[in-house]
Amino acid sequence: MKLSEREGWIWLDGAWLRWGDASVHLGTHTLHYGLGCFEGIRCYAGADGAAIFRLDEHLARLEGSARLLGIEIPFSRATLREACVEAMRRNGLTEGYLRPLVFLGDERLGMDPAGLSVRVGVMAMPWGRYLGADALTHGVRVKVSTWARQHPNAYPCRAKAIGGYTTAILAAREARADGYEEAVLLDTEGFVAEGPGENIFLVRGGEILEPEVTVALDGITRRTLHALAADLGYPVRAARVTRDDLVLADELFFCGTAVEVTPIVEVDRRRVGDGTPGPITRALQARYFACVKGEVPAHRDWLTPI
Ligand code: PMP
Repeated sequence: MKLSEREGWIWLDGAWLRWGDASVHLGTHTLHYGLGCFEGIRCYAGADGAAIFRLDEHLARLEGSARLLGIEIPFSRATLREACVEAMRRNGLTEGYLRPLVFLGDERLGMDPAGLSVRVGVMAMPWGRYLGADALTHGVRVKVSTWARQHPNAYPCRAKAIGGYTTAILAAREARADGYEEAVLLDTEGFVAEGPGENIFLVRGGEILEPEVTVALDGITRRTLHALAADLGYPVRAARVTRDDLVLADELFFCGTAVEVTPIVEVDRRRVGDGTPGPITRALQARYFACVKGEVPAHRDWLTPI
């Protein structure tokens, strides 16, 4: 079924519309040039009910993305928070994915967006395992992409901006066409950046390493894992990471809202470690899922009940 054919409600520009009525005109500026930003947020059903994970951090990042793009969001954080909570409720969802989207209107085209209307929508829908049913338990195989993550002077890398996903999609599609589950993008200097929609971590000698977040998106799951690694007593260090480091790591994993914590077991057809998800990856993954379901009292403040 197409997304547009689903039943339910969508919040658009402050009003609740029937799902099928939430469409835009062909003249919509963002449709032509990609200037806009979005978020991807998950909601999980736990023992104490359903809750959205780190909603405020996602909305703060959305505001930062808009600011980097020179867009002023015409709704307050509180309004968007309520729209997200209500989108889950109205659509009868206890688990799923929220997609707030900020885009420019259809007053005119051209490179000067001054005065264009800023439109905001929130869509809520079910969302399964991003890289397939087995990915969390068995891990995925990745290809170092021929596409590079954008240079910071060619694109605002801190923004979760719509236009940037052209590169991400090209990398993901290339990896899948070549028989891998996912891509890893290097930066324009050749150091490891991130996946098309995920951050990446390595484990080496009991230490957790991550690429310095220079061009990668500053992921909220990544920040979550910093706290969870500290809970479990593992130090985390940022470093310049090469593609060799990926192959030679003891363990490797992706993290992100969609991908959650997904082990990587192969890089460019070379096995990572013993070719199965490693113990530190599995420990972090277990704690992550406990956390999102409200089973870790110390981190309940990350949850917004719906
Ligand atoms: N990098 C990119 C390019 C992404 O699209 C995402 C998903 N938002 C991430 C990393 C992970 O970010 P988060 O943990 O906030 O979902």
